[in-house]
Amino acid sequence: MSVNGSCLCGKVTVKMNEKHTNVWACHCNQCRKQTSSPFFIVHSGGEETFTFEGEEFISRFKSSEKATRGFCSNCGTILFWELNESHCYSFNAELFPEQRPEYKIVREVYLKDKPDYYSLKI
Ligand SMILES: [Zn+2]
Ligand SMILES: [Zn+2]
Repeated sequence: MSVNGSCLCGKVTVKMNEKHTNVWACHCNQCRKQTSSPFFIVHSGGEETFTFEGEEFISRFKSSEKATRGFCSNCGTILFWELNESHCYSFNAELFPEQRPEYKIVREVYLKDKPDYYSLKI
C-alpha cells in the first residue's frame, strides 16, 4: 500500500511505495539546528522506493561529506536526509499524516549530542 505525503504548502508531494511506521529520532546537532527538535524520520530506501512531484521546489543542501538534506524552497519544510553513496532516503515522518497513528519510535540516534532540556518518553 502506497503512502502519500507533502510539505506544508503542498508544492512538493512524495508517494512512498510502502508504509514505513518505524520512526527514528535523531538528536544530532545538524538535525536539531534545522528542525528545533529531534528529527523524526522514516526510512524509505533508494530512489526506486518513492516518487516526488514538484521536484522543481526541492532545494538540496550538502550538509556533510556523506549526506544531503532536502527542503521545500517555497515553505521551508524539511523533506529528507539522503545518504549520498547509496541514495537511500530518510524522510521527515511528519510529511505522512495518514500513517502517523501507527508510528512507533524504535530508535534514538546521536543521544550523546542531545541537550538536557528535553527527553523523549519511549
Ligand atoms: Zn512547501
Ligand atoms: Zn541528525
